[in-house]
Amino acid sequence: MIPPLVLLYHGISRTEHPSVLNARSFEQQILFLKRHCTFIRPEELGNAHGSVRRPVLLTFDDGFRDNAEIVVPILRRHAVPGLFFVASRHCNPGQYLWFSYLRMLERWFTGKGVTLNGNYIPLDGPNRREGIQELTSRLLALEPHPRAMYAAIRGQLPSVDSFQPADGAADEFAGMTVEQIQEIGNDPLFTIGAHTVDHPYLTRCDPEEAECQILENKLWLERITGKTCDFFAYPIGDFGGTTITLCIRAGFKKAFSVVRKSESHPQFAVRRIGVYSPSLLPLAAKLFCGNWFPSRLIQALRASKSPVDLAPEAGSQWSQDACPEKLKMPKKDLRHDNRRSETSTLP
Ligand SMILES: [Zn+2]
Repeated sequence: MIPPLVLLYHGISRTEHPSVLNARSFEQQILFLKRHCTFIRPEELGNAHGSVRRPVLLTFDDGFRDNAEIVVPILRRHAVPGLFFVASRHCNPGQYLWFSYLRMLERWFTGKGVTLNGNYIPLDGPNRREGIQELTSRLLALEPHPRAMYAAIRGQLPSVDSFQPADGAADEFAGMTVEQIQEIGNDPLFTIGAHTVDHPYLTRCDPEEAECQILENKLWLERITGKTCDFFAYPIGDFGGTTITLCIRAGFKKAFSVVRKSESHPQFAVRRIGVYSPSLLPLAAKLFCGNWFPSRLIQALRASKSPVDLAPEAGSQWSQDACPEKLKMPKKDLRHDNRRSETSTLP
């Protein structure tokens, strides 16, 4: 029996560049998956085991607007179910998730540097990447997380309005509108899941804050869609024993991670495989790996008609950008030494 595979997507780019996962390459992936697997809904995950075709559940994290404007029409066209995990903050006009703010700053800010709590961080020329990394470390180290981080962005760092291009390019970083969430939630093909209010590292939050992040987001989504929100995805794949307890208490049926970390609560650590490349080759490897013989993989690739099928993996900038769950904590950890880490208390 072939076990199900849960794929994790984030944003889909609006650009036409061949190295990015955009509408064209995403639709090719859907067609490829349609040929080789069976799409399932989240509630089928527990009992779905294919005898020939692999059951696949598609999930989309964060709730970027392009999910509603690019992904949803493609999935509808092919009658493919999807589970969308939506963070609340960036669904308010002019508000962005913290990593979106940092990406916009890196891409568009033209000043020489910024000052955070008296520390000047140069962002000009060759210092830019390193400066953004230092700023990220310092922001994530602020306590209480994530409120102090958002307060610092709002109170001490340049506003998005002051550096974003006039052509509305920042829309790429915007979340879905309430109407879009409502429309997706009302479509029987799709499911809306929770992803916290502010997309924090949940194990860095105090338990009260973590509970607030999870519950507020869940209740908000339920109010908008008029449906019970049964599924949750851990932002940045970060969770611990306390986080699982909070999710169970909030009434979720399943929680999705990136890497499985809980043997005792498998329903609250459903493993997913991220898709970041426009190429079909890594997707095929993820789909077939460990279940089908390599010859089946080669046959499937040869049977594919499109030249993009066999293109090398791009490893594009967008692939990195579109992937907050791939963010690694900076090496230089500026947390207070006495900060408790929940990760060490995993069941
Ligand atoms: Zn996320």
